[in-house]
Amino acid sequence: MKSSDKEIKILGVIGNPIKHSLSPLFQNYLLKRYGIPWYYIPLWIDGEGFLQFWKGCRFIKNLAGFNVTLPYKEKAFSFCDILSEEAKVIGAVNTVVCREGVMYGYNTDIDGIIYTVKNKLHLETLDGKKVLIIGAGGAAKAALFALYKLQAKDVCIVNRTLEKAHALMEYGKSFYNMNITVFPFSMLNEAISQVEPHLIINATSIGLNETMEIKVDFQTYLKDLKIFDMVYNVGGTKFVNNAIKFGIEAIDGIYMLVFQGIKSFTLWTGLENIDVEEVITFLKNEVKYRYGENFNNR
Ligand code: NAP
Repeated sequence: MKSSDKEIKILGVIGNPIKHSLSPLFQNYLLKRYGIPWYYIPLWIDGEGFLQFWKGCRFIKNLAGFNVTLPYKEKAFSFCDILSEEAKVIGAVNTVVCREGVMYGYNTDIDGIIYTVKNKLHLETLDGKKVLIIGAGGAAKAALFALYKLQAKDVCIVNRTLEKAHALMEYGKSFYNMNITVFPFSMLNEAISQVEPHLIINATSIGLNETMEIKVDFQTYLKDLKIFDMVYNVGGTKFVNNAIKFGIEAIDGIYMLVFQGIKSFTLWTGLENIDVEEVITFLKNEVKYRYGENFNNR
């Protein structure tokens, strides 16, 4: 940190809606923890206002940057002046750094996925392993790039809208030279039986509320199967908790959320080697204290 960084600056997260975001909680914790007098605020911007917001950002001299979440990651990608390699490949930006009117775009979701797979599911590489992704939206596309970086070659995409799964398959085949198969969401259990994956990633929003859950017949599947659910819930998601009951190693989306945020924090402040577990502990306690059992209705 330079002495000029002791000036008050603004950080934030833009999305629509944004009230559900946990980023302000742990980003402000990090700012305080490292004695940085900046503020991280949620910015709820509707579609019509996005362009004006972006133009205005170029004039806010004390804006250090912001995170971007649904539905603006692709728009932010097209508006940034300079893009990281990851952002270019995925076509989506979740972190913007603002410096003298220039907007730099990054995608740190990939770091969050790789961190979770390596450190929480103990898979150093996916070379020779089969992976099944549920979903074909932005998070699934980021997952595919992360899988490529982890040397996965055999991937199965399961999605409700088959056209989107096919589009992602074509992308994965041409950009990453992967072997990719596709199944409809209604055939999830058949897909798992046929593919026999070592890792299943849920990249859908199923599990965010109690009304829907991913139902997998874990009893039938291999014991070395691992589960990564990108969704986060207090007390774990149903998908993760069911897997754990059957002795399957499983983790939800909290590490992805926190690690991508830590990477953003480093891009804004230059501070490295942040203790991930410390931030996780803070966030879990804070979420329990603030929302308790009503987490999904916040
Ligand atoms: P997105 O682009 O809108 O994609 C949503 C995906 O969920 C699509 O594949 C969609 O299928 C599927 N889906 C939604 N409702 C469904 C239902 N009822 N039945 C079957 N499939 C359904 O969103 P995204 O950016 O990929 O994000 C997806 C989720 O990933 C988010 O909700 C979030 O929970 C999680 N995520 C977590 C982190 C983290 O840091 N932990 C970061 C990013 C995302 P269709 O194609 O058929 O619509």
